[in-house]
Order: sequence, then C-alpha cells, then structure tokens
Amino acid sequence: MSGIERFDPFTGTRVHIVASRQNRPNIPTEGCPFCVGGLEAPTDYRVKSFVNRWPALQNGICEVVLYSPKHDSSFASLEPSEIKDVVDLWAERTTHLANQNDIEYVLVFENCGAQVGATIQHPHGQIYAFDHVPARQHRILSANWRPELDAGARAILTTENFVVYAQFASVHPVSLVVAPRARVGTVAELTSDQRLGFAEVLSRTFKALHNLFDSPPPYMMWITQIAETKNYTEPWMHMEIVSPWRATNVQRYIAAAEISTEEYFNPVDPDDVAARLRNLIS
Ligand SMILES: [Zn+2]
Repeated sequence: MSGIERFDPFTGTRVHIVASRQNRPNIPTEGCPFCVGGLEAPTDYRVKSFVNRWPALQNGICEVVLYSPKHDSSFASLEPSEIKDVVDLWAERTTHLANQNDIEYVLVFENCGAQVGATIQHPHGQIYAFDHVPARQHRILSANWRPELDAGARAILTTENFVVYAQFASVHPVSLVVAPRARVGTVAELTSDQRLGFAEVLSRTFKALHNLFDSPPPYMMWITQIAETKNYTEPWMHMEIVSPWRATNVQRYIAAAEISTEEYFNPVDPDDVAARLRNLIS
C-alpha cells in the first residue's frame, strides 16, 4: 500500500497521508459496482466483504462490507433477519482480522449519505484493521466504558438484550449509543440470539431516525470493540450512530472553534432528540 503515517508530537494527532485516494472515482461511471453483476459483486450474494481497492491504511487492512444486493435498501428497510446476516459478517471479519499478525484493533464503520462522504449509494460499510489501537478508542477502553442501562430522559429503547440512548455529552446533533445490556468485548462474542436482538434494535432505530427527519438522514456509524483484550479491563462493545443533521437537510458543521479546541458546541439538546425518537420508535 502507498502512503505514509505521520504523528504530530505537539497535538498527539496521528495522520495517514493517502494521496493515492485522490484518484478514486467520486461516482462510478459504469453502473453500481456493488449490485449483482457489478465490478465488486460478479455473482449473487446476501452479504459480502472484500478488500477495498482504495485503502486508507498503509499498515493495516481495509475491507468493504455489502449489506444487501438490493441497491435501494438500508438498515431502515432491511428485515431484521437480513440485518443479522450483516452482524454475522461483522463478527466473522472481526475474528478473522483480529487473528492476523500485527492487527490490534478492528474498526467496523459506515458513512451513509453524500454529506458524510459516501461515494456509492448502495448500502455498505467498511472495516479498517489497525496495527495499533486508535487514540479515541484507547481513551474509551482505558476509562472502562460502561453503557447507561437507565439513561432517564435520554433513554430511547430498552429490549431484552440491548439499550439505545442519546449520549450525555453529544458532539453531534444526533448521537446515539446502541449497546448490549450484558458485557461482551466484541461483536463476535454476541450469541446468535443477541445478534438477532441487535439487528431488531438497529431496524427499529433507523426507522425512527428516518421518521425523525421525514427522510433518511446522512449518518456515520461505528463499533467500539477490542481485538486484543490484554491491555483493557472488561471492554464493553458498543455502537455509536451520529448524524450531522440538526434539522431536515440542515447540516451542522464542525468549525474553527471546535476543531481548534476539541471542545464542541452542539445546538441540539440530547434530551430532546431522545424524547422525539422515543415517540417515533415502534
Ligand atoms: Zn447497487
């Protein structure tokens, strides 16, 4: 892989210079590469993963995860049984990648919508396998993160196995946590029943998010988990779902005062987001 990794000793920021990604197509010119028969999916599939042609990591592995052969589908429209196939694939890839030499952290994530940089509409996510634990994940895991099992005014949904709530210190207008009520370290440690429960919760949450804005909002999603347990005490896997929308088609930008200080000014009250989602979720 081309590219170099740089570290700023003053800010503690790690930067991957990946100029080769400038050459990747913004919008595919010859049909969707993720539809069956397309460049990356020559044969039929239910879910699928493959190595990213445009890797962002020089010392690591970048994969793409296809959620469904249906081009216009999303977590809001897929059946829970179909979403469980995605969860199973996340689990399989987490285990596979974590077992590779020099892999310390497996990041499962998604950018959905052009406003957060997704270049292809077809429902898909990505996985980066790092040779180190990234700084934010290290802070979360070192601090012995635990979910809020009763988030009070910020609670959105509680099921047999999972909780969904708005984050206390939300950086983004919408910032949700989806977490198992019983601790597991990685998505791969979820039982089959828990994975189906996870899928059902995602289906309900994304439907409610669509209803919140009367259209599908752009969002980013990622799972915090741990590949190497030795450095952390009882890591607790969880997902965060964040959207930059503060209203339909109104984007909140993270700007100078925030980027420069790493302090954030969120115009939306998490209690309010939670109350509205609680009313919409079914
Ligand atoms: Zn497609």
